[in-house]
Amino acid sequence: MTKQICPRCKGNGYFYVKKEVRWPQKQEDIVVQCPQCDSEGEIEMMDEGRIKTMEAEQRKLTVEHIKKLEEEIQRLMKQKAELQDQVDKYIDKETKQ
Ligand SMILES: [Zn+2]
Repeated sequence: MTKQICPRCKGNGYFYVKKEVRWPQKQEDIVVQCPQCDSEGEIEMMDEGRIKTMEAEQRKLTVEHIKKLEEEIQRLMKQKAELQDQVDKYIDKETKQ
């Protein structure tokens, strides 16, 4: 994890909010603790290396998943061929009689 300056409070950990006071007419600044960074002024960011690793892992998973599906398809096609073979032999036998 790398830290980045909080964009909400710009690294202060707090920011001011204008509060309108009707009487006497003036504006009041209220200090608000930054909820985005928990008053730390910095937020933890996932660094690019980590994101890239995650993306690569995801791609790898997808590739592996497709590979598994292809193996399954090949297995089923082989099975189908074997069954077709049996059917052919059976039909052959039947027609020769
Ligand atoms: Zn902040």
